[in-house]
Amino acid sequence: MDNAFRTIRVLPKNLQNQIAAGEVVERPASVVKELLENSLDAGADRVQITLDGAGQGLILIQDNGRGLDAAELPLALTRHATSKLSSIKDLETMASFGFRGEALPSIASVSRLRISSKSQDSPEAHYYEVAFGQSHGQGPTAMTQGTRVEVRDLFANVPARLKFLKTQATEVKRCEEVVSRLALARLDVAFKMQVGTRTVHRFVSGQDLASRLAAIWPPAVTQGLVPVQSEMQGYGLSGLIGLPHIGQARPDRLLFYVNGRPVQDRVLLRAVRDAFKGRMLSREYPQAVLFLTLPPAEMDVNVHPAKSEVRFRDESLVFTMVRHGVAQALDTASPSARMTVSLDHQAPPLRHVAGSGEKFPGYGQYLVEISRPDNTREGQSWPDQDQEDQDQPESYGQAASAPHEPTAAHHPEEAYRARPRADSSRPAPQTEPAQSERPKPSRPTQGPKGLEYLGQVAGTYLVLRLGNDQLVLLDQHAAHERVLFARMRREAKRAQSQPLAMPFELNLHSSEQAKLSALWPDLMGLGFQMQSARPGLLLVRGLPPIMSSGQAKEFLREVLSGQARNMEDLWAMMACKSAVKAGDNLAKDEALALVEQWSKAEDRDYCPHGRPVLVTWDKKDLEKLFKRRK
Ligand code: ADP
Ligand code: MG
Repeated sequence: MDNAFRTIRVLPKNLQNQIAAGEVVERPASVVKELLENSLDAGADRVQITLDGAGQGLILIQDNGRGLDAAELPLALTRHATSKLSSIKDLETMASFGFRGEALPSIASVSRLRISSKSQDSPEAHYYEVAFGQSHGQGPTAMTQGTRVEVRDLFANVPARLKFLKTQATEVKRCEEVVSRLALARLDVAFKMQVGTRTVHRFVSGQDLASRLAAIWPPAVTQGLVPVQSEMQGYGLSGLIGLPHIGQARPDRLLFYVNGRPVQDRVLLRAVRDAFKGRMLSREYPQAVLFLTLPPAEMDVNVHPAKSEVRFRDESLVFTMVRHGVAQALDTASPSARMTVSLDHQAPPLRHVAGSGEKFPGYGQYLVEISRPDNTREGQSWPDQDQEDQDQPESYGQAASAPHEPTAAHHPEEAYRARPRADSSRPAPQTEPAQSERPKPSRPTQGPKGLEYLGQVAGTYLVLRLGNDQLVLLDQHAAHERVLFARMRREAKRAQSQPLAMPFELNLHSSEQAKLSALWPDLMGLGFQMQSARPGLLLVRGLPPIMSSGQAKEFLREVLSGQARNMEDLWAMMACKSAVKAGDNLAKDEALALVEQWSKAEDRDYCPHGRPVLVTWDKKDLEKLFKRRK
């Protein structure tokens, strides 16, 4: 090995800068970011950005900030020279973007950089020029107060870097994003950005956040934004967040700022996604611009060379605060929030007195009632009964239905599915435990107060009128899923199990076997009674009462093929398998009862997979649809 490699020596200044540049100056967009941050740190309220040749030809940033004296110019280009920090304690209260004193010398080590500036106090402006780390001249120049930095031939001396750049269009797009990202944080500053001869951004100062966003995001997104505003223990959260229905499969419209600094942060990301959980499909991402403010001492900004990450002292407080703030904003703006008044103060409730109310509320109670042999409806067969029996999937037909029937009769939501079998020609269910002691529920002839049921469309959507001027469509399957899910969650600790008179077997593939072992405790907790007969064979002896054998088989197959990871996933799948299907005809009473039940469920706007349960139109929306108003 060459001896030179063995001798320790201090690297030449320029090499140090080039190495630092490796971290700080990744691409043209990083240069734009650093220069723009410097302008904002210098108190500018007007900044102009110009790009040529996708930033490799020229990046020019001009501001009207406080400027630099002739003597300060070479210092600004010296590594670890900064005006923003004098002791390590300052880091704790850092309000500026920069503090490392690395950006300008790094950029100058990989480009031709010329900085021209005029400070408030000096009578004339000066420039200073550096080419690939070597000073290249200085002197007086003409300009008004502020600073102009021109960067040319970026990476011309580090061809390796050039190879990592993407297409010109992509690099330009990243530069534009950097500018808009900072423009969203500084509404008090005017920004203008030009790419070649094209003006890509023009933000006037004093705009509000929504107007700035409207210039960046498409109307379909910005029209669905609602404000977020909350506070907790000295932490504040504000900004705008897109309602779940505008969720998109792209993650790049989720912008976080911490104390005004754009950051990427997994705690914040998790908190937002958590707040959206159950309101949005898992492949979709929320759209949001969120500003978190906290005492500067509560975070560390010095953990990333480009300062795009921070570290929080109390991550769990940050998480709770953000998730709560976002969830609250979503709840307030939810489509059924407007319905809350009438739904939550309905009278008289269908819920019944002591003992029965908790477990078999409203709708379920009603269904129990109609499937009881001593009911006034006894013997009345359902008009669509035969139809429905045929409609059941094949596996359903094979289900060990006989032993299962009793449970159908005394389990509320189950009655939905089992309804076709409440056939007077069959023996009445043998088991009517507890139920018979309960007071007879009155039949719901009305749904929640203020809500009028108008009918069913496409065998799937319940059409409702709320108050005088709201039209509501409710997806019956999604609504019922939500009802079942809420109940499973509520009863998680005391799930029941129904032994099967005719246990069934499932053959398992080895991958299914592994999945089964992982989910075994959860499945038992749900009410499945299972036995591993021998490797590759599962014997199922008991089920959650909500399911038929056919549904259970389908459910287990799906679970074991690897789609479920936790209890919530299992509940969601179980709810889906057991809920009334799209295409099932509902009688008016059933529909009303479903609405009533649904109106009390938690998170009722979205089904457990995140699909919307309802869509609403108020008078204004309808007027828009009919072009009576704009
Ligand atoms: P940092 O921003 O971390 O201090 P930089 O290398 O980005 O490091 O800048 C070095 C110094 O140059 C800054 O501390 C500041 O004093 C000065 N400076 C840079 N850009 C500007 C500008 N646009 N206006 C006024 N001063 C500037
Ligand atoms: Mg800086």
